[in-house]
Amino acid sequence: MIFHILTIFPTFFEGPLKNGVVPKAVEAGLIDIRVHNLRDWTSDRHSTVDDRPFGGGEGMVLKVEPVYQAIRSILPQRFEPNEEGNNGNTRVILLSAQGKRFQQADARAMLQYDQVLLLCGRYEGVDERITDHLVDDEFSIGDYVLSGGELPAAIVVDAVARLVPGVLGNAASSQFESFSEADENGVPLLDCPHYTRPADFNGWQVPDVLLGGNHAEIKRWRAAQALAKRLKNRPDLTGGTHERG
Ligand code: SAM
Repeated sequence: MIFHILTIFPTFFEGPLKNGVVPKAVEAGLIDIRVHNLRDWTSDRHSTVDDRPFGGGEGMVLKVEPVYQAIRSILPQRFEPNEEGNNGNTRVILLSAQGKRFQQADARAMLQYDQVLLLCGRYEGVDERITDHLVDDEFSIGDYVLSGGELPAAIVVDAVARLVPGVLGNAASSQFESFSEADENGVPLLDCPHYTRPADFNGWQVPDVLLGGNHAEIKRWRAAQALAKRLKNRPDLTGGTHERG
């Protein structure tokens, strides 16, 4: 699977995607990450990628032309579909605070594509014609505003990459974790609490049940703890509301 990241800050990715499982997956040839500088598709001597908004208002807007040229050059198959109308199994995603909330199911669904292009917005956002004509999905990583789409793009790459078969040493890791399973009502389940040695630190004890070796009991305890945690931290998942401290 190939991830293309289109950004005006390509050096940003030298940090976040160079630690942990993602670089290992790249080294093993399981994924490829290609970071593209949007300014490479400008034609003026200042390499301009933004301009003032029509209608007035604050800030600058990412221009449609360089984004169009970049996507056309990185994923030409999208502009010249074959006889069956196939666009080469590609997906173009805009990171946007106004997008659909990116969830584990979206990460999993992305595995079906051979190439995914992540477009990182900046300034006040992108010219809406990019969203309307060049993008398949608009994803937000949460209900807050960041200064650019780079961090969200790195998050999406990480979330998808770890689901690519072979990337995690233990395939079960991504089968039994938060948001990978749902209860009988289809509400996502969260992971259970984990503990490791020492069993007693500062008088903080590991629950006895985990030390007893009764696997059926441990399984029941973990399921109950996962539900309790969901109730406490994510009442919104079951239709409740969150108290803010
Ligand atoms: N004016 C926009 C708004 O109010 O929704 C915010 C633009 S923000 C300063 C600049 C860029 O950061 C956006 O184009 C987007 O690519 C990225 N961004 C900011 N918050 C984000 C979020 N929660 N999820 C995904 N991308 C985000």
